[in-house]
Order: sequence, then structure tokens, then C-alpha cells
Amino acid sequence: MENRWKETMNPTRTNPPRTKTQVFLRGPLCSLWLRILSVVPLTLTLATAACNKPTTAAPADQPTSVAAANTTPEPPATPAAPSPDSAPLPHIDAKRAIEYTREVTAFGPRPMGSDNHKKLQRYIADHLKGDQIEDDIFTADTVEGKFPVHNIIAKFPGKKDGMIVILGHYDTNYPLRNTGYVGANDGGSSTAILLEFANQLRGKTRDGYSVWLAWTDGEEAVKTWSDTDSLYGANHLAGKWEKDGTLKKIKALMVMDMIADADLNIDRNLNGTPWLMDLIYDAATRGGYQSHFYDRQGPIEDDHLPFLKRGVPCADVIDLNYGYNNVFHHTPQDTMDKLSPKSLEIVGNTILETIRLLDQR
Ligand SMILES: [Zn+2]
Repeated sequence: MENRWKETMNPTRTNPPRTKTQVFLRGPLCSLWLRILSVVPLTLTLATAACNKPTTAAPADQPTSVAAANTTPEPPATPAAPSPDSAPLPHIDAKRAIEYTREVTAFGPRPMGSDNHKKLQRYIADHLKGDQIEDDIFTADTVEGKFPVHNIIAKFPGKKDGMIVILGHYDTNYPLRNTGYVGANDGGSSTAILLEFANQLRGKTRDGYSVWLAWTDGEEAVKTWSDTDSLYGANHLAGKWEKDGTLKKIKALMVMDMIADADLNIDRNLNGTPWLMDLIYDAATRGGYQSHFYDRQGPIEDDHLPFLKRGVPCADVIDLNYGYNNVFHHTPQDTMDKLSPKSLEIVGNTILETIRLLDQR
């Protein structure tokens, strides 16, 4: 991914109720970008947003006044039936997830074709022993030559027909391979949260949909981000699953990327399916995490795009403001000290809850 972005007011946004709105843009360093940026209004809304942020609108179907509710002491004639939302909130083991992140990051730079990349593949495989695995292996022909690419998919069966797919890339940037770049957040956190999801899913047949976890390879560009130099693994997997009929069975696909920033603000990626993004927000709200979601919105290119283009409902769960003005993104500053287990917990719990909500649809 590349990281040019800009914030501006988006007065048209209405759904769901969020008060701080920003549009950001990102993409390669190219003239197209500069042209796009030149037509975007330059209104920077941080001050406005800060003023608006304390407003927390209650959903229209919930009481907005506790005092008013208390003035009618009579109990309901019959006890309310337990709603589906009385289910306990799922939660991940955040300490374990941050430890995975630390171990993955400790391999060092992990670009396609490197020894560290192979070591990480073995590390992932070691954590998936006994699980049902699909390997998607091919050679990518790129502007920097040929690279071996290896997507790893772990499948956890459910009783309902269809599956929910969660993607997270495990490669780091080839162009940054000699800079000391270790991608703790970008590549590390996504690898780790999927390993923790596997722990949560393992050992039982789900009552809901099957859940497939895919560690994607070659998400990053080998030279400069473009339609042809990026998303190598996801493009291949989407094509493969289109041919064999798998895509039609996918109820929802979610990408985890850069989700461990201690200052967590998950973006509403407008390259996505609105109902699924709203469902994630509902899940976040159940956990009390909604202040970490969707303050900003804009289009982001990520591993979900090849699936979205083929009609799969998709959401990209990403915080593309990593450090002030995204200064840590794709730099040697992307290190463990910027991350927090709390952020992995917020995202992990929210996605497990989203899966539960998807099961009910
Ligand atoms: Zn990246």
C-alpha cells in the first residue's frame, strides 16, 4: 500500500451516526495522484472534528434519556425475551496476539523471495498444525523479476452453507528490504491477528458459517504501487476461487491490515460494501469500541479489491494514519513500540463479534 492521504470535510456523510468525518486519499507517487489532490477541497477539518467529537448520538431505536425512562416505574407486564444481543461478547487473547506480532517482527524484513519470508511461512505453518490448509502457490512475474508467492489458507468448518473469509498479508516491502524496515504493524499485526483467530476457531465445528483465514503474500508492491504492481497473492487467489466456484459461497470477506497502532482509528474504506462496514461498526458498538472506528473515510486499495471487483461483499479493516500524518507507514519507524495489545483486542473482539452477527443473517 502507499500512503498519500488528505483530510477534508465530507458534509454528505450520514450513515452510520458519526460526527467526525474526513476524506483521505492514497496511492502511488504519480501525476495522477497530484491531479486528484489538486481538485480536492483543501479544507482541513481537524479543528471542526475535534469540536464535534464529544457528540455521541444514540441509535434512533434506543432510549435517549435515562431520567425519562425512570419516571415510569411500572415494570413491563411480561419479562422481555432475551434478545440475540444478550450473547456474551467474544474476545481474543490480546497478550498472545501481541506476542505473535513481536515474534513475526523479530524475523526482520520479510519480502517475497527472502530467507526471512521462508522462515515466517514455516512459523505460520507450525501454528496451524492439524488445521485444514489450502496452499496457493505460484510465481509472480514482476518488474523486479520473478518471485515465488505463497498464500496460506486455514479452513475452520461450520454447519451453515457458505463461508466468511478473513485476509491478512504477511509479506513486507521488497523496496525497503535493506533499510531496516521490519513492518511490525504493516505485515506483522495482520499475520498475528489471524494466528490468534485460528486459536479461537480451532477444535470445534461452528454452528454458523465456515471461517477461512488467508495469510496473503505479495500484498506490497515490489517497486511502485500500481494496479499491476501490488496485491499479487490476493489477485491470484481471487482468480483461482472464481474459477473453482468458491467465490459464490463467500458471504463476507474482511481484510486485517495495520490494526495494532496504539492510537487506533480504523478507517471507513469506501472501497468496500456498506452493509458489511456498518455491521462491523455495530459489532464495535457492542464492545464499546466505536470511538476507534470510522472517524475518517476514503478509498483505500488493499487485498480485498480483487474480491470486491468480483462481487464479494468486502470490508478492509485498516488504520491508515499510523503516527502523525502517517509518518511511520513504510518506514523503519514501523516498530513494536508503536503498537498496543489493546488495539489488537479492539479489532480482534470486533471481528469475532462481526462473525457472530454474520452467522445470524
Ligand atoms: Zn504496506
